[in-house]
Amino acid sequence: MDKKKIAVITGGAQGIGLAIAKNLSDAGCRVVIVDLDKEAAQAAATPLEGAAYAADVSDENSVEKTIDEIIENEGRIDILVNNAGITKDSLLVRMSMEDFSKVIDINLSGVFNFSRSAVKKSMMRNRTGNIVNIASVVGLIGNPGQANYSASKAGVIALTKTMAKELAGRGIRVNAVAPGFIETRMTDALSDKVKEGFLKNIPMRRLGTPEEVAKAVGFLVSEDSSYITGQVLVVDGGMVTG
Ligand code: NAP
Repeated sequence: MDKKKIAVITGGAQGIGLAIAKNLSDAGCRVVIVDLDKEAAQAAATPLEGAAYAADVSDENSVEKTIDEIIENEGRIDILVNNAGITKDSLLVRMSMEDFSKVIDINLSGVFNFSRSAVKKSMMRNRTGNIVNIASVVGLIGNPGQANYSASKAGVIALTKTMAKELAGRGIRVNAVAPGFIETRMTDALSDKVKEGFLKNIPMRRLGTPEEVAKAVGFLVSEDSSYITGQVLVVDGGMVTG
């Protein structure tokens, strides 16, 4: 029997990341959950018989150390899902440099940090690997109040395309998933009035579920997508069609 694929999911303790971890575990992978809080990561990993690590994706040293430990304990990294992300919303004129930089550091530099280390230390050596970056539709179309977040996600999309071109010859595929509005703690906090406003712009007239995003990731890391790299798969109920 084939060995289980080792799938690392950043920000996997809850929300979309946890749904991705469950889906990949069901698909036969050994999941490795990385999150800021070790206890939260462990609580998510234990029912999946996976492993848990604490790391801040924006901290280069923390990421290098975590990747070293994962490779030492698991042997290699076959799949990396860069899912960790935050928002710090406000209108451009009120946004502090600190809030702009914080979001870029975690959402964009975090993807760079984790990918570079996993590629250099495992995937390139094994001449195989699969990376999926969780972007957002706002990285394609922008969104008032999210200058930092939308710029970070647009950066993730460009980084995805560049990594795909650099790494295809090494047997490594790199794609992105761009969710629209998904039912997580982020959208739970919104008032019914704000949700109604969102729904008007979603042709399917409902929010998506974390599981629907996870299935898109599952497709991109499977052999069913073996000739697909450098693409952005939009999961948004029809909001962005261009
Ligand atoms: P979430 O519920 O807030 O989960 C994000 C996870 O990432 C949390 O466990 C969080 O830990 C962790 N995290 C935050 N900063 C981190 C860091 N520096 N290093 C490591 N882990 C970190 O978010 P979500 O809604 O599931 O979103 C997951 C991804 O999907 C994000 O990239 C987000 O931008 C993207 N997305 C979400 C939606 C949506 O509608 N929800 C739409 C489009 C795209 P703590 O709880 O300890 O902070």
